[in-house]
Amino acid sequence: MEKRYNGNKYVYFFGGGKADGNESMKNLLGGKGANLAEMAGHPKLRLPVPPGFTITTEVCTYFYDNKKRYPKELKAQAEAALEKMEKLMGKKFGDEKNPLLVSIRSGARRSMPGMMETVLNVGLNEKTIKGIIAQSGDERFAYDAYRRLIMMYADVVMEKGGNIEVKNGKGIRKILDEKLEHIKNSKGYKSDTELTAEELKELVKDYKKTVKKVLGTEFPDDPFEQMWGGVGAVFASWNGKRAIEYRRIEKIPNEWGTAVNVQAMVFGNMGDDCCTGVAFTRNPGNGENQFYGEYLVNAQGEDVVAGIRTPAPVNEYSKNAQSEHFTALEKLMPELYKELYTIQRRLEKHYKDMQDIEFTIEKGKLYMLQCRVGKRNGIAAVQMATDMYKEKLIDAKTAVMRVGPNQLVELLLPMLDPKAELIAPIIAKGLPAGPGGAKGRVVFTSAGAVEWASRGEKVILVREETSPEDVDGMHKAQAILTTKGGMTSHAALVARGWGKCCIVGCSDIEIHTETKNFHAKNGVVVKEGDWISLNGTRGQVYEGSMALVDIDIDKNQSYKDLMKLVDKTKQIGVRANCETPGDAITAVKFGAEGIGLFRTEHMFYGEGSEQPLFLLRKMIVSKTEEERRDALNSLFIYVKKDVKDTLTVMNGYPVTIRLLDPPLHEFVPHDKEKLKQLSKELGISMGMLNRRVLALHENNPMLGHRGVRLGISYPEITEMQVRAIFEAAAELNKEGKKAFPEIMVPVTVIAHELRHQKEIVDRVYKEVCEKMGVKKIPYLYGTMIETPRAALRAEFMANVADFFSFGTNDLTQMSFGFSRDDIGGFLPKYLDLKILPDDPFQTIDQEGIGQLIKVGTERGRITKPKLKVGICGEHGGDPESVKFCHRIGMDYVSCSPYRVPIARLAAAQAALESPRK
Ligand code: ADP
Ligand code: MG
Ligand code: MG
Repeated sequence: MEKRYNGNKYVYFFGGGKADGNESMKNLLGGKGANLAEMAGHPKLRLPVPPGFTITTEVCTYFYDNKKRYPKELKAQAEAALEKMEKLMGKKFGDEKNPLLVSIRSGARRSMPGMMETVLNVGLNEKTIKGIIAQSGDERFAYDAYRRLIMMYADVVMEKGGNIEVKNGKGIRKILDEKLEHIKNSKGYKSDTELTAEELKELVKDYKKTVKKVLGTEFPDDPFEQMWGGVGAVFASWNGKRAIEYRRIEKIPNEWGTAVNVQAMVFGNMGDDCCTGVAFTRNPGNGENQFYGEYLVNAQGEDVVAGIRTPAPVNEYSKNAQSEHFTALEKLMPELYKELYTIQRRLEKHYKDMQDIEFTIEKGKLYMLQCRVGKRNGIAAVQMATDMYKEKLIDAKTAVMRVGPNQLVELLLPMLDPKAELIAPIIAKGLPAGPGGAKGRVVFTSAGAVEWASRGEKVILVREETSPEDVDGMHKAQAILTTKGGMTSHAALVARGWGKCCIVGCSDIEIHTETKNFHAKNGVVVKEGDWISLNGTRGQVYEGSMALVDIDIDKNQSYKDLMKLVDKTKQIGVRANCETPGDAITAVKFGAEGIGLFRTEHMFYGEGSEQPLFLLRKMIVSKTEEERRDALNSLFIYVKKDVKDTLTVMNGYPVTIRLLDPPLHEFVPHDKEKLKQLSKELGISMGMLNRRVLALHENNPMLGHRGVRLGISYPEITEMQVRAIFEAAAELNKEGKKAFPEIMVPVTVIAHELRHQKEIVDRVYKEVCEKMGVKKIPYLYGTMIETPRAALRAEFMANVADFFSFGTNDLTQMSFGFSRDDIGGFLPKYLDLKILPDDPFQTIDQEGIGQLIKVGTERGRITKPKLKVGICGEHGGDPESVKFCHRIGMDYVSCSPYRVPIARLAAAQAALESPRK
């Protein structure tokens, strides 16, 4: 049985001020088709769009479900639509005297920059070209269009669509391209616009012969064969290697399919009074509310994106170092520029978002060929959202939804150390296509980038220009540097989408692929593997590895404006996980409303840890309680200072302090010197010390003597920590400051553990109150829920706890039975085969671990309806996980300081998506 669709309507027409479809039909018509319909047919727009029709995504699905055949109605529907196009254009497809040419354009629901193919000038053959020449009176133009058709068609339809294996890595496009280059070089032409009609005519002959020779079949002469071949190739390209690759990175489902748009051709290559361009209604690089774009005189659409010629700016504002001496469209064709300007304003108003538009001017007439919501980097996204809100183009809710939480990372991204930049010589300058700083080792191929990155190397991909084949390497690289292409080139577009540091059009350097190096204008030679540093905000390239420094987020006014809206909207708290008082300062700066996890262990690592670590070790290898207390008493001072400093920074915000968690043997010294020192201090022999150290060995330390188990074996450890916390808080209170500690017991499984520890806490609390002469020290007592049993027994745990904090790292580890330190061995395969949809250590596995969290929260609140519940694993900074926590009713999430803004934004979006009563 064949699956039927949608009343069997497979073709949607647009043109002449009308359209069958509209913008809301992206799923069916693809983004390009839906927007063409909207531009052409919406009563408020009715823009000059060349007429055409869209073959729906359902046909793509049908095509793959039915051995690459089409539904039988398709042909008649397409022909009827073609007839309408012919009427509107006053031309006829395949006609010798007055031929209509069309483009075949792919377009999925979401834009996949350059991933799938478009073929222009379809319908040209030995006969119709005569009509084109007669009509245009321009033989050169006609042959230019013809050679383009052959090249695109041979590449897209015949080679890629026909699944023909490429020999020696050189595809037909490259082979044909080299022939064009050859003529240019031998004649000394700088640009392909200099080729004469005669030369192009010869080229076309040569192209046809070459296609036959290389691909084994003739370039088809029949216009209808060309058209249907193009349609089939678009569908085939949906399952091409690089489209699949791109979908994997962008998480676009394979089932979506692509639509095909067949559209009447208009020509930007009909002479010097014609042009084609790409523009944005606002600057996608920094968000400024300025019309921004590039164009090429006497060119066809793909020339701008492919970066074969440096494009000119549409206006003064769009000029850059490379294009400042070019004439702006504004000057060259003031009337048409005005029309374009007005249209782009109308479009932005209509869509209420920044639009990315394609246009072509043919002999004094402007045509709109595409519009879509423009990709922008994080900095621009924030700027645009707050600007549009102020302009009253969008409301607060929309402004908050406009910025992807992960895009905020880009605002917090480090940049090159300005002090280092001041003294370092710039070896090359290009266009700033992706802001921020980056450093890495130079590689010249996408495959190289992938390989180096897999060895843990940081790389910068340096290429003349990028193409969709390079996405994998681009993704793996720290940054991208190209020597050709403008701000709308493939590299710029893709980097913008990913928020990657990127410099394009850097013509100061010359790449030598054979010798694997590049030469900068000033003579510097950089080899593969050498370090370079990029300032993507200014387009500057430096030799060597430069320091990166953090940026001052408080200087970004639009960020502050956005976060104000965010904080008004969100319904759960956002705290930070901190290790030091310094972290706490950072956290507050990023808007943390407390500390959800303060680990005291950090004081035993790194700078200044010598003495406390020694004392801890002494405590660990102690045999008697007395020995241990002695060590703990000395350690007490350090713990108290640490806690007090942090409570001071947080100034009344809650600080969840976790009692000692890791298995003790982690701290045991292994080098001889340290061991000797220990034995001396403890007054025991080396032999005895070795025996004690050996006794601490565990087979499975993560499931061993750790967490609350330590506090139960050695109550004096808990006692020391709790005393430090209470004394620190009491002292602050007495000084008139605010302190609100929350004591958190880790790795519990049963309420009895909590009771056992609570007795110590209660006793010490009394002692400290007495000693300090205070009646009360505000605090909470609670537990981390990080074992499945504790989650299931939450009702009972809540009897002895004022709060729960889900420790989702361990909870995931223990419930999956996946050791977090060992997932490298198997998880990549799991993700590759889609056995698991995501890495459960990065985003909460909602259907498994999420259920434990939900059950734990619900059961805990049966006992204590007001039980405070939060989360403190890595997941607290993952937007999807934050949204989940909001939905199940948590009070707060806690994450690393740098992810606090991301979590705040995610929390606000969750509140808008599923508001709490
Ligand atoms: P992509 O999705 O890669 O941007 P497009 O379908 O937009 O591919 O087409 C590539 C280029 O060809 C664009 O610059 C577009 O404006 C141009 N183009 C497409 N159709 C036509 C047409 N009918 N007339 C003139 N130019 C066209
Ligand atoms: Mg396009
Ligand atoms: Mg843990």
